[in-house]
Formats: sequence, structure tokens, C-alpha cells
Amino acid sequence: YGYVHWLQAGDGALAARERLSKKPIQAQPLVVGDTVRDALVADLPGVTRDRHYGVCRTGARPFVVVDTGGLSGVDEGLDGLTAQQVRLAIEEAQALVFVVDARDGLLPQDRNILDELRRSGKPLLLAVNKTDGLDLHDALAEFARFGIAAMLPLSAAHNRGTEELIAALLPVLPEDAHEELAGGADDSIRVAIVGRPNAGKSTLVNRLLGEERLIVSDVAGTTRDPIRVPLERDGRKYTLIDTAGVRRKARVEEAVEKFSVIKTLQSIAAAQVALVLVDARENLADQDLTLIGHAVDEGRALVIAVNKWDGLDAYQREQCQRALERRLQFVDWAKTVFISALHGSGLRELMRAVVRAHAAATKELGSSDLTRTLEQAYQSYQPPLVRGHAPKLRFAHPGGNNPPTIVIHGSRTKHIAPAYQRYLENFFRKRYRLEGTPVRIVFREGE
Ligand code: GDP
Repeated sequence: YGYVHWLQAGDGALAARERLSKKPIQAQPLVVGDTVRDALVADLPGVTRDRHYGVCRTGARPFVVVDTGGLSGVDEGLDGLTAQQVRLAIEEAQALVFVVDARDGLLPQDRNILDELRRSGKPLLLAVNKTDGLDLHDALAEFARFGIAAMLPLSAAHNRGTEELIAALLPVLPEDAHEELAGGADDSIRVAIVGRPNAGKSTLVNRLLGEERLIVSDVAGTTRDPIRVPLERDGRKYTLIDTAGVRRKARVEEAVEKFSVIKTLQSIAAAQVALVLVDARENLADQDLTLIGHAVDEGRALVIAVNKWDGLDAYQREQCQRALERRLQFVDWAKTVFISALHGSGLRELMRAVVRAHAAATKELGSSDLTRTLEQAYQSYQPPLVRGHAPKLRFAHPGGNNPPTIVIHGSRTKHIAPAYQRYLENFFRKRYRLEGTPVRIVFREGE
């Protein structure tokens, strides 16, 4: 993913970001409190509550947008706590969008913010928001004094200008990092090791590699991007895509600081299998679920490793297992393995699960067999009628793998409810034993 930092000056930016990530607007929140705001943008909470990440998929290439918020406070300027957040985000970003409010005009603090942005040396775009009903020329003229060449009018609330904004951003974003990360085609299984800070990612990677190959790569610049680590184990080749950096046991603060949502997203995009590491002592945190949800959205095969199992007593283990059962229902096809990265237990089972998930994700399916399975599924349970007519499902063929994609041709397919789609997914999953991978169903109207 490319990565764009979204700076907001005024609540209009919220709506703009909202449009960018094409999420449904649940209310009319142009003047919003924190709760509504969170509900809207909290698709990928960062380590702190002040940075929110979302993936924009409306353009030719997806990119990550982060919204730091809080810059509108006149008194705080860039000096408070949020400023620190903003700086971290700026450092991480590959392009910056500064959103100003056309109706407020140029505010004194805007100039301070701008100076800071310029110092970063990153591509900078000025989006002048709330231009609906205004003379565009006048609206922009006011901000022309900033001297930023890349200036765009926006009316986020009316969804105007966002396409142009995306079009302006894409050329300044570097080519997808994940293509390079994914590397040339070899026969290794690409596994992204992801998880919250301190879940034990480094410990796991080091354990898998064997202590003697432990590399310290904490030199500035080397930990910025996820790295590829080749691994051979039990006659199998893997490429671990590691976000933590292979390093010695890091101090806790250091780990937190090093955690990057962007790196995590890049790793998942570059991998075939997402290995999500969760800390057993924390049961399952919301961020873990968000991460898992993201891996599924990306279509990645998934293995969940519950780490630090060694530190739990019988009662705690039961509590943890219950929490997992309850909260992981939406990925009940994914294997959960209990491990101790520290002591090395459960790792054989873990890697076996990775191999299986990968095999399922890359399984070749045949058209005639898929169509037969579709007929069986359709006969045992038909989609509910739509105005007296049943949607018809005629035949199926494969549409690619990782994730396995099944293209189904029929009529009135757009009326098929999500529940029926899930039914089909599960039917195909059972029939082809597609354990450990999401299954994607795509409907096509007509022949
Ligand atoms: P990362 O931030 O995800 O890379 O996490 P680290 O690998 O740096 O681990 C964070 C802390 O958890 C370290 O103090 C590790 O020693 C500890 N840790 C990692 N795995 C285990 C485990 O299996 N059991 C126990 N008890 N501690 C672990």
C-alpha cells in the first residue's frame, strides 16, 4: 500500500475521509462528537486512539489513509499530545493531504501546520473543503497565498472532488511496496507474522529461525519496512514477512513505538497466509479482531496463534478458550493454535496449520465439479423469493485463488442476501475442505 496522511483542520475532513474509504455514513455528522467520529473512522485503530487508519480502494490502487484529528484546536496548535501523534503519522506517511475549511479562510495556525508539513519534505496536497455553494476561484485564491502548487477544491459532504483528489494522489505514491515484498514467484509460502505490540512476534520469528541466526536490525532505516526472512523447516520453504524486525528482545516501550499499522497492512497484502499472533493473557483485544477482520477482507488465508500459553493456569486457559470461541465465530474456519514462542511449544502444529491453510487457499477447482456442487447447494436450500421470483443460479467456474474465488452465473443475483451468500461459501468450503482460507463468491448476471 501507499500511505497517505490525512490532516484535518475542521470536521469537514471527516466526511471527506469517509468518502475516500467509501464507508457508509450512518448519521449526518458534520458536527460530530468523538463517539460518532470514532464509529465512522475506527476501521483500524492504531496503537493510540488518536490515529485512525482506513483503506481507500476506490482508485486504481488501494492506499491507506490515516486521520489524526485534533488539529483544529486553536490553542493546542502543534504543541500538545496530538502534535506528537501527528508527527509520528507524518513520518510514516508517503504523502500528506492538508484539509482546510474554505469557509473559515486562512487561519493563523494553518501557517504553522503548513511549515511543519513542508519541513517533512513529503509530497503535499492542499484540499480546500466545503466549497459547495462558493465560487471555486475565490475559494482557492485565498489559499493560493500558501504557495502550494497542488491545490484541489473539495466538497466532502457532497462527495465532490474526491475522485480528483485520489487521481492527484496516486502518481505521488510510490509503487506498491507489497509487490516488492511479495517478491518473485518461488515455491516458498509467504507468511505475514502480525499482531499487536508485545504479542511475541520477534520472539516467534527468532524461535523459528533458531537463535544462532538471530539478527539485530534495529539500525534506523532497517526497521521501517517489513522485511522478508527466508525459513526452511521440516523440508518446507517459507518466506516470513516480519513487521517487528528480527531483533533481540526489545524493551516494551521500544516495541510499542515500533509497531506500525502500515507495516502490518503491507505485510498482510504481500503474504499468502496471515499468521495473527495474539497474547493469551489479554484474551482477545478489539485490535486483534480488527486485524483478523482486515486479513479476511484482504482474502488472506488465516492462522491464529495464541501465544504465551505457558504463562496461564488451568482456569485462565479455560477463560481464554471461551473468549476465543465467542469472538472468533466469524472466522470459525480458521485454525487456532496455542503456542509458547518463548519455549517453542506448539510450533510444529502452528506451521502445519500454515501449510494447510496455504494449500486450501491455492487449491485448483474445476468448473464442472463446481457447477455440480452449486446444484446440490441450490437444491437443498434455495434463496428466498424476490417479488415472487426466485433468483436462479445456473453454473459456476473458478475465478482465481488465494482466496479461492467461485464465480456463479445466474439471474436476479443482486437480490441474493448476504446470509445466502454465506450459506454458499460454507457449502463450497465443506465440499472442498477449504479450511483456513476465506472463500469468495462472485455473482454474474446472465450467461
Ligand atoms: P513483539 O512486539 O510482538 O515482537 O513481541 P516480543 O517478541 O518482543 O515479545 C514481547 C514480550 O513477550 C517479551 O518480553 C517476550 O519475552 C515475551 N514473550 C514472547 N513470547 C512469549 C511466550 O510464549 N511466553 C511468555 N511467557 N512470554 C513471551
